[in-house]
Amino acid sequence: MPPLLPIADARRLIIQALAPVGVEDVPLADALGRTLRADAVARVSHPPADVSAMDGYALRAGDVTAIGGTVTTVGESAAGNPWTGTVGPGQAVRIFTGAHMPAGADAVVLQEDTTVAGKAVTITAVPIKGRHIRRAGQDFAVGDVGLKSPRRLTVRDIGFLAAMNLPRVPAARRPRIGVLSTGDEIVAPGDPVGPAQIVSANGPGLAAFIRHHGGEAMSLGIVRDDMAALRAAIAGAGPLDLLVTSGGVSVGDHDLMGQLMGPTSGSGAELAFHKIAMRPGKPLLFGRVGALPILGLPGNPVSAMICATLFLGPAIARLTGLSGEAPRTVTAVLGADMPANDGREDHVRATLAAPDPAGAPGTAVATPFPKQDSGMVSALARADALIVRPPHAPAAKAGDICRVLPFDF
Ligand code: AMP
Ligand code: MG
Repeated sequence: MPPLLPIADARRLIIQALAPVGVEDVPLADALGRTLRADAVARVSHPPADVSAMDGYALRAGDVTAIGGTVTTVGESAAGNPWTGTVGPGQAVRIFTGAHMPAGADAVVLQEDTTVAGKAVTITAVPIKGRHIRRAGQDFAVGDVGLKSPRRLTVRDIGFLAAMNLPRVPAARRPRIGVLSTGDEIVAPGDPVGPAQIVSANGPGLAAFIRHHGGEAMSLGIVRDDMAALRAAIAGAGPLDLLVTSGGVSVGDHDLMGQLMGPTSGSGAELAFHKIAMRPGKPLLFGRVGALPILGLPGNPVSAMICATLFLGPAIARLTGLSGEAPRTVTAVLGADMPANDGREDHVRATLAAPDPAGAPGTAVATPFPKQDSGMVSALARADALIVRPPHAPAAKAGDICRVLPFDF
């Protein structure tokens, strides 16, 4: 038997086979989760002028050098309604957060540090020049590159782009990714379920995964374990950037994906790999039929979702113009003993909890579920993270440091 392909090599083969999709101009309302494909350059400065960071009084710091000094209010500067005069000696302007600093003033005294009697303001904390003032452009200045391309846009980026006065951005088209579930036993949720049938977790689950990762999920439904039907479903899939299938990748008689993608199938298919050194999900297949790249995930819903995490996420990222690197992992402390691992990288469903409910600092604790049956969709849904066990990792004890991949979806 040839050695199983390491995960990193499999991911590289997938990434190398995929080219980035085109770019379109999208409104911010449709930009979340897309990949920015040109640097975002600020069209305004923020703040646009020197503004107050607090509610209080703008004055000349040099006028009040001791507690108890008094100034006279000569006007008011509010956000959107600046005061247009110049603050002279012994004068102050009532000012509010976000309001322009009036000419002449060089400090803000907090409202809390004053006693007010009519227009006379007594200062109870000595002002410091420059205090509580946000300088024009201190956040960003017009012409600054706020966000560099390529970058997957986050919720926080959307606010930043808006603040830069960019109502639209050039972003990758959402890759069109077909989802095809295979299996004689599979029915769609809500359809009648016969005695020999199970409900498809993968169709809806993978579609959600694709959407969450910035793709457009094209549901191709369920196809029976029948070569002609499978070929017809793939041929009729329509224009796609990638087809994801679930099921039929093992070596059983009814596992048709491997046969379809094999060298003797006569389907014009090209197989890049089939079977990798991981658990769960050893049978994972990637190749192409004609120009269409196909990622064949195992039918087992836990395996399918973990393979999606390790391979489909990076594939979508690559299609949008990102590098498609491995999902981020962090360190945690093991919450239970773990046995030695064999030659396949293992992905153990686990909870991730704060080290101490009382809030003492420390590393998060990853506790594996006692049952790791890869057929258990419930445990996958309840898990917070995967503990990643490298090939041939020795047995580990509770309290040891481990590597975890936290779910962000
Ligand atoms: P297969 O990869 O086709 O051998 O399927 C492996 C296991 O996953 C079998 O127990 C299937 O019944 C199950 N399975 C296949 N497809 C799905 C699906 N779409 N949803 C839930 N379970 C599935
Ligand atoms: Mg099957």
